[in-house]
Amino acid sequence: MQSLKPFEYVEPATIEEAVSLLSDYADKGKLLAGGVDIMPRLRHRKIKPAFILNIKKIQGLDYIDGNGGDGLRFGALTTIRSIELSPVIRKDYSILYEAAHQLPSHQVKSMGTMVGNLCVGTPASDMATSLLALDAELKIVNTSGEKILPIEDFYIGVGQTVLEPGDMVTEVILPSVMPGTRGSYQHLVRTRADISKVCVAVWITITDGICKQARIALGAVAPTVFRAKKAEALLNGRELDQDVIEAASQAASQETKPITDLRSTAEYRKEAAGILVKRALNKTLERAKA
Ligand SMILES: Cc1cc2nc3c(=O)[nH]c(=O)nc-3n(C[C@H](O)[C@H](O)[C@H](O)COP(=O)(O)OP(=O)(O)OC[C@H]3O[C@@H](n4cnc5c(N)ncnc54)[C@H](O)[C@@H]3O)c2cc1C
Repeated sequence: MQSLKPFEYVEPATIEEAVSLLSDYADKGKLLAGGVDIMPRLRHRKIKPAFILNIKKIQGLDYIDGNGGDGLRFGALTTIRSIELSPVIRKDYSILYEAAHQLPSHQVKSMGTMVGNLCVGTPASDMATSLLALDAELKIVNTSGEKILPIEDFYIGVGQTVLEPGDMVTEVILPSVMPGTRGSYQHLVRTRADISKVCVAVWITITDGICKQARIALGAVAPTVFRAKKAEALLNGRELDQDVIEAASQAASQETKPITDLRSTAEYRKEAAGILVKRALNKTLERAKA
């Protein structure tokens, strides 16, 4: 007789057990972390995995280690709320704090993991946008071993990542912060509780008034979060005066490939992206001078 259970539920105790089971189940298995995204999908039968692997019982995946001087790592079970409350992240990686802090729902922040947020693959992820500007890397483990992947190479389309069946993200790694680095996170929403219709993270190193390295990441204005590299090139090696900021903001706007949906029109998103980049650059400059 066919089982009435919609899926088998397992709770692996270790990463090794989790990836071994994931490998056995192939595309029939799905990881569950905080459950914020996956539970509604299961309930509405949008996905029908044969096996659900709840990784919450795995010890040692909920941590934040390090600081801006040495670089920082956090684990697959670190919640968005823990990131928001971390004094080190607020001080040394302020744009990640700002992205986490803007999320209004305490339930979502307390249940949802940062890694779960990244793995959903939405281009509107505030967290992915900030982590892209911070040049984060992801540790991906499977039965063959582990690899470290820049977050820039993680996304391949709307809701699509490079993760293969059998892969698990175990850690996010942030590089050390160069002296003179500041940033700003900016976004636009329809209502306080809605997801971003445009979001921007800027992370810039300024030495003796000159921009040594600029990273500008945008979300919700292309199929994946992306770096506006033409805009960055206009900033590198320059003093950030208003002409340079204006040119970079316009370049960033031109690099977007937005869509029209219920949150906004493509035209509005394109223009707003440039305005947010300008706002973020000016805020960064203000912070650099403080
Ligand atoms: C009301 C609401 C408001 C929200 N607002 C925002 C917002 O303002 N900004 C924003 O960026 N996001 C927002 N989100 C999204 C939310 O942050 C994510 O849904 C949540 O963080 C997902 O994390 P989770 O641990 O619950 O993942 P889960 O739901 O458990 O998993 C999500 C997906 O990731 C996979 N996965 C989870 N962990 C791993 C892993 N370690 N390795 C590989 N795959 C894994 C799962 O298999 C699943 O496919 C909002 C969501 C809701 C419901």
